[in-house]
Amino acid sequence: MSHSGLKDRFGRTVNYVRLSVTDRCDFRCVYCMAEEMTFLPRDDIMSLEEIAQVARNFVSLGTRKIRLTGGEPLVRRGILDLVREIGSYGLCDFAMTTNGSHLPALADELRKGGLHRLNISLDSLNAEKFHAITRTGTLSQVLDGIDAAREAGFEKIKLNTVVMKGRNDEEIPDLIAFARTRNLDITFIEEMPLGKISEHDRGLALCTSDEVRSIIGQHHELKLTGDDTGGPARYYRMPDSSIRVGFISPHSHNFCSACNRVRMTVEGRLLLCLGNEHSVDLLQILREHPGDDELLREAMIAAMDLKPERHHFSSKGDVEILRFMNMTGG
Ligand code: SAM
Ligand code: SF4
Repeated sequence: MSHSGLKDRFGRTVNYVRLSVTDRCDFRCVYCMAEEMTFLPRDDIMSLEEIAQVARNFVSLGTRKIRLTGGEPLVRRGILDLVREIGSYGLCDFAMTTNGSHLPALADELRKGGLHRLNISLDSLNAEKFHAITRTGTLSQVLDGIDAAREAGFEKIKLNTVVMKGRNDEEIPDLIAFARTRNLDITFIEEMPLGKISEHDRGLALCTSDEVRSIIGQHHELKLTGDDTGGPARYYRMPDSSIRVGFISPHSHNFCSACNRVRMTVEGRLLLCLGNEHSVDLLQILREHPGDDELLREAMIAAMDLKPERHHFSSKGDVEILRFMNMTGG
């Protein structure tokens, strides 16, 4: 069944869905999780079949792009089956955001299963700092994961780096050099106030995209490209490299008017905006009316009316959204 697409009240077409497949993770990144986390009970999370049912119905309503995220998607048991299933839907773009730690074992199967693209998070190239930021992560495993993804034939692999003053801001030139030599795109992300953390003051640690750009500018010329993904990223290129350097500035509003995306938590809550709590409980519909695709699609279409015009984040580090990023699906 084809559909002309989901539209919201502001005329925006929603054709990009980010699905969180787990709230769990083998890392505990300081900006994303508390050290001691309580994860959702198994009965409260969507089964892989339920996730696939949601994905399939979004595709029938015009979704062209799906990203699997979490938590860490690769710790979800059966993830390869889900990738193979969604990989058969003929999407324009099928991507995953991962911390990379399980890529040495899984990169090849993911590629064969039909996944097109990988975003791999990498905040530091220094093993100690990497461990301090991720609390439980091992740098060499992630570097091996990046190599495995390249060997598996993934193209346009993108690194994601959350920049925090005093933690990894001095590594920006090294991370750029790393990306250049391996021909990987890299995007620098401003920390967002999602969930309450105790490790650092988000307001003080915030390293803005302007600041990151000026640090890179001391080493390389950066030219703004016209590439627009409908998301919060702005992309630049360097004259002597083919990689793109992106900047995600959630504190700026200039992308809300072009927003084409929604997110679904692993509890089956469809979130209409990263920075707002507007949501619809799709899991309740799935469980009360098993197999009723029609009703599910009606709920998806109706949900579009709840998509707010823009998000509201404060740059002082105040927590406005109590959900952690692992719940939201980054
Ligand atoms: N576990 C996977 C990973 O780390 O790539 C996927 C999920 S993670 C929540 C997705 C992205 O969100 C990662 O690049 C992570 O660095 C980023 N992230 C998490 N918490 C954040 C926050 N408070 N502000 C900005 N980015 C955040
Ligand atoms: Fe895990 Fe990703 Fe959150 Fe880090 S950012 S704790 S890797 S979900």
